[in-house]
Amino acid sequence: MKYVLVTGGVVSGLGKGVTASSIGVVLKACGLRVTSIKIDPYLNTDAGTMSPFEHGEVFVLDDGGEVDLDLGNYERFLDIKLTRDNNITTGKIYQSVLDKERRGDYLGKTVQVVPHITDAIQEWIERVAMIPVDGKEGPADICVIELGGTIGDIESMPFIEALGQFSYRVGAGNFCLVHVSLVPVLNVVGEQKTKPTQHSVRGLRGLGLTPNILACRSTMALEENVKEKLSQFCHVPSANIITLYDVSNIWHIPLLLRDQKAHEAILKVLNLTGVNRYPMLEEWTRRAKTCDMLRNPVRIAMVGKYTGLSDSYLSVLKALLHASIACCRKLVVEWVPAADLEDTTAKESPDVYEAAWNLLKGADGVLVPGGFGDRGVQGKILAAKYARENRIPFFGICLGLQIAVIEYARSVLGLHDANSTEFNPNTKNPCVVFMPEGSKTHMGATMRLGSRRTYFQVTDCKSAKLYGNVKYVDERHRHRYEVNPDMVSELEAAGLSFVGKDESGQRMEILELPSHPYFVGVQFHPEFKSRPGKPSALFLGFIAAACGQLEAVMQNPSHVSNATAITSPINGMAKVYQNGNTTKPANGSLNGNGFLHSNGNGVHM
Ligand code: GLN
Repeated sequence: MKYVLVTGGVVSGLGKGVTASSIGVVLKACGLRVTSIKIDPYLNTDAGTMSPFEHGEVFVLDDGGEVDLDLGNYERFLDIKLTRDNNITTGKIYQSVLDKERRGDYLGKTVQVVPHITDAIQEWIERVAMIPVDGKEGPADICVIELGGTIGDIESMPFIEALGQFSYRVGAGNFCLVHVSLVPVLNVVGEQKTKPTQHSVRGLRGLGLTPNILACRSTMALEENVKEKLSQFCHVPSANIITLYDVSNIWHIPLLLRDQKAHEAILKVLNLTGVNRYPMLEEWTRRAKTCDMLRNPVRIAMVGKYTGLSDSYLSVLKALLHASIACCRKLVVEWVPAADLEDTTAKESPDVYEAAWNLLKGADGVLVPGGFGDRGVQGKILAAKYARENRIPFFGICLGLQIAVIEYARSVLGLHDANSTEFNPNTKNPCVVFMPEGSKTHMGATMRLGSRRTYFQVTDCKSAKLYGNVKYVDERHRHRYEVNPDMVSELEAAGLSFVGKDESGQRMEILELPSHPYFVGVQFHPEFKSRPGKPSALFLGFIAAACGQLEAVMQNPSHVSNATAITSPINGMAKVYQNGNTTKPANGSLNGNGFLHSNGNGVHM
């Protein structure tokens, strides 16, 4: 096993995660098998209890692990399936050491950060790196490890120490350190400044780690003399200094690395020069170019709670983007704060209310994503009602499905107080109820989590067709509440159709309104398994419906990613839906979190 460690310097939010994933992409294109580990030096055991408002979305894995959103990037970029152990946190390491201490495994010794914590970190990395993640047998060739935070943070110290020891232990030729840093450009002359990078490399060396490669974030390509200077002061050959300048969309990053021969530099450090092939990256090149050229918009209203931080819905945005590219449309996301659609807002701030409704009414499709807590619930119900009555494509995910059921029970069954017991425990018409599997007192990892199977109840429904007429699909879950099985027959008699259920037939997984152009709700989160070249089936259906392509897509459902029974990637879609967009590329840039926002990737923030 060879290791590539990616660290960050100067400031946080340089796009370390995207850089690390892109390194993985290029190495994979060289013919190597790649796995990855993300280290988060916070004390939370996992991301499950962390607010998406503060930290970005909680990503869910097949095994039910609730992890940092960077693991989503790795899964999407490398088309792999990670395990919860691929996300190391300080909390997990300390918990494992303390458990051992309580068991008496340390035989009376004083338990210390060095060597006990640092040993535990190294053992964890070695163990997890060996887990196959690409569906093939045996371990990968290379493990990319991303260390969260910035060099110099107090909380990452034990990890730095452990990784320093680790690099020594695995030896030269098996360990490559890529340091992602910032080269700011100052004043009107546009001078590129090397000092912050010099300082952070000095910090790194002081902690016992020597960088092999510098990946410098800057607005423009580094000038030759700037590279020379960095090389001299940081003791890194200038061939190993790569510039990650701003690009129009995220798919360009692997190409940028490849074009600057980052793979050659890394493989040289890892003594792997003989085994590789040239990373062609045709698919990435095609996607990067297509994305730049898309002009014809598809407008999606995201009716959610955390509309201030788009990272809270990162995987949903990515899944929408994958589907939009497949339909040759430029994705425009209109953020509609759910609470702004409510009557109370109409009274208090009529302008805000009107603006929210205008956004909703201007949209080609309405999406209600997952969520917890009762804020904005009424607004989401109004949005679902609007989409249902006006025959606008609607997609409800997790809470979104529950909202659709509440709305239907209220408007169609006439049960005016119908609700989820999450929002009103005393409702007389609980159409969404607490699940026996959940826990009301413990928040961490107590939900129905991870991959579960959904069986189609009928073949003649949109979802079954979009998934490619398979018998069942495996998708990822994260919920505590579910549709009340006692009310299902009543809802179905009134026209709502539960076309997907779990193996017991008691748990509602997919709902559809057959009389509507596209009204679909899912209890699972299909966004977690969407891939750039293989958009998630129901996202594709949703976007296709929003731009008038649903029939064509349903006739050619061989391009979806997430049914386990389906393996064939999207094929020929661009040809089928080519609409002759040839306008010049838009500008965009990596934002603070390293993800492209604004016009660049079509996601309008
Ligand atoms: N709050 C709802 C539940 O727990 C929905 C959860 C979600 O959308 N992820 O069931």
